[in-house]
Amino acid sequence: MLIVQKYGGTSVGTLDRIKAVAQRVIETKKEGNNLVVVVSAMSGETNKLIEYAEFFSKTPSQAEMDMLLSAGERVTSALLAIALNEFGYKSVAMSGRQAGIITDSLHTKAHIDHIDTTYLKETIEDGTIAVVAGFQGTTKDGKVTTLGRGGSDLSAVAIAGALEADLCEIFTDVDGVYTTDPRIEPKAKKLEKISYDEMLELASLGAKVLQNRSVELAKKLNVNLVTRNSFNNNTGTLITKEENIMEQPIVSGIALDKNQARITLRGVVDKPGIAANIFKKLAENNINVDMIIQNVGVDGTTNLGFTVPQNELAFAKKIMEELQSSEKLEYNSEIVKVSIVGVGMKSHSGVAALAFSTLANENINIEMISTSEIKISMIIHAKYGELAVRTLHKAYKLDKN
Ligand code: ADP
Ligand code: ASP
Ligand code: MG
Repeated sequence: MLIVQKYGGTSVGTLDRIKAVAQRVIETKKEGNNLVVVVSAMSGETNKLIEYAEFFSKTPSQAEMDMLLSAGERVTSALLAIALNEFGYKSVAMSGRQAGIITDSLHTKAHIDHIDTTYLKETIEDGTIAVVAGFQGTTKDGKVTTLGRGGSDLSAVAIAGALEADLCEIFTDVDGVYTTDPRIEPKAKKLEKISYDEMLELASLGAKVLQNRSVELAKKLNVNLVTRNSFNNNTGTLITKEENIMEQPIVSGIALDKNQARITLRGVVDKPGIAANIFKKLAENNINVDMIIQNVGVDGTTNLGFTVPQNELAFAKKIMEELQSSEKLEYNSEIVKVSIVGVGMKSHSGVAALAFSTLANENINIEMISTSEIKISMIIHAKYGELAVRTLHKAYKLDKN
């Protein structure tokens, strides 16, 4: 078999952990498999590098950020390859560029255009273990790019897809995908299987066990994707097509997204074109606007509120203050988004009503709501985030099998 294994930050968080990963890789190799290993930066490393940059600027050049952040993954890939060679297994470390990962030029959240697999294939055919630095690629003209936070998952899935690998294993620090973050609710249950669509929603709504874009690509390329724990030998969770799952529960999981901030614009003139102008500017600067609320106007003016990722707030502020006077603008980072996900919602009513009454019973005020066919999202005060997850988890009986 050809297997792509990806090891996340905690799995390679110390030198001893890198050694343990080398041993696991060797076991897989000894079973007669070919393999490509994708690694993240050691845990905490990417955040540390971001803090270094913020010492100099709150809105640093995104191209320079990519140079900086891609370094974390390169360190781990080189260390793991050195360890494997020392254990007697031929191995080479590769940067994203050497692995042939070609992206667009959207620095810090670049999209993979294609992978030139020549060098990867030569390496595999030679029986050598390729250890690829995750989270990064290069533009056609050689500029270093990164793939968005959690992007090593995307590197692994993209490589698995391009090489038509039999399996893509994402090794992390929990046993698989749970009904909610097991660090918030210890009663969360591990799922044996989950559909690509539900996993995509959960990941997009804050369940960082998999990066959302990696799930989207896995679905598109039909990659056999499994999440597992690098600290034990448990089976993990299979992410697969909906038709491979016999019984779909109404609600599969609850997600919490802490990377949220709200911008409110007060007293805007209630006439056509104002919102269009603001959202066009934000989109041009690649800022992801999520929920939007516009109040009913009084006296010809209205209030406009919307959410952006907290790590893009500084850029969003800069843009908004170019468009509007700062006394009309308000910013709030003390919010989180809690979401309920389940394909069964398509055919069952009352799911949203239960969410609202559950939060009301806890005296948690819902500040914004949005829904789709398979999810309900609510913005609430940050201090209630974990409480909301736990009470909703119980209300939908996710702690029972
Ligand atoms: P890695 O460094 O291996 O990429 P991440 O920290 O990105 O790991 O993702 C794993 C973490 O995701 C877990 O430690 C867990 O706290 C969190 N998580 C959030 N939601 C879920 C969920 N539904 N199932 C499993 N883990 C989840
Ligand atoms: N190191 C990067 C991050 O922390 C990418 C990853 O871990 O997947 O976001
Ligand atoms: Mg991750």
